[in-house]
Amino acid sequence: MMKRFSKIFLFIFCSFFMIYNIEAKSLKQLREELAHDEARQAELIAEQKAKQKKIDSANKEVGALASQINSKETKVEAAKLEVKELESKINDKKKEIENLLSFLQISSNDNIYLEYVFQAKSFSDFIYRSAVVEQLTEYNNGLINDMYKMIEDNKVLQVKLKQEINSAEKSIDDLERILKKYGLDMNDLDKNQKDIKADIKARKVEIAEYEKVYKRNKCDENLEITKCVDVPPAGELVRPLKSGRMTSNYGMYDPWDNGRWRMHNGVDIGGNPVGTNVYASAAGKVNKIVKKAYCGGNIVYVQHTIDGKKLRTLYMHLHSIKVKVGDIVTANTIIGTVGGNESYEHCSTGAHLHFGVMKGWEGTTYYNPRNYVHFPALGYRFTTRW
Ligand SMILES: [Zn+2]
Repeated sequence: MMKRFSKIFLFIFCSFFMIYNIEAKSLKQLREELAHDEARQAELIAEQKAKQKKIDSANKEVGALASQINSKETKVEAAKLEVKELESKINDKKKEIENLLSFLQISSNDNIYLEYVFQAKSFSDFIYRSAVVEQLTEYNNGLINDMYKMIEDNKVLQVKLKQEINSAEKSIDDLERILKKYGLDMNDLDKNQKDIKADIKARKVEIAEYEKVYKRNKCDENLEITKCVDVPPAGELVRPLKSGRMTSNYGMYDPWDNGRWRMHNGVDIGGNPVGTNVYASAAGKVNKIVKKAYCGGNIVYVQHTIDGKKLRTLYMHLHSIKVKVGDIVTANTIIGTVGGNESYEHCSTGAHLHFGVMKGWEGTTYYNPRNYVHFPALGYRFTTRW
């Protein structure tokens, strides 16, 4: 679906790019951040424990935005439904036209169509038969006009949908800014708390891979990663599993109903046993693998360029990992298998895949995966990847 509006929305994507580029990091910056975090590892772990205070002070602002984010996501879902309903009406109309056309064509090919007119037994019969044929054609023209009108209406609805998604993502960007002000990011709001030790290990491997690419592409280390690293372009993201059941949605929630807002940064997909294959959501490049995180277990990150927009997908609670950092993947690459019951994990209850869509190639901000991948409603099953 994304492909169809790519041209219309090019200007929107371009303005997105400008936002991204402000946040784009160079290899040198990544190295400095890692050195800084590595030196302060013990402090960072202590800070993470103390973060609750920061979250509490951010809560009023976050809470005000939370309901806005949730209601915007609801609007997006409604807009998607409108598009879908009109699409099915267009299909019905198309079928009606095809049926009538095939009737008219078969008739004219066999000359029955003309024969029907010319076999008139009298002049008045000839007029009658001509009128029937003309009416059929007119009726068909009417159908075609109706269909074109619906297609135009659908374009308008799709523009509206895209605007709703942009608006919802702007609120996420606002959330990101508020959190930043308090020294927090979206990981801090998530129940899946970042494992600092495992993350530092993963970042070392990631940077070593970037160093290879920078050398190969002869890039200056001050150059932004997005400008030196190649990631194969892809048209759209698809479901990372062949089947499953939606068990949890993306969104802000207040689990204790006391104004302490939390964020579920992705969707949870259950209904698969441990060991089920997990696929990359689109062509891209594996940039980070976190192993045995206290919370989240094995995590794979894949960078994408979807219709020119830079995104990362994240696959959490994996039982096994089948790729390595730097691997180029397609939507048919098995990146790992479903886990969730591992002994080292402390934030998962039962076999499921947590799937996330992140802004940019290096950020910590999460968008709603439902705005990029077509998933059924909460509680429902799917049995295909599209
Ligand atoms: Zn989850």
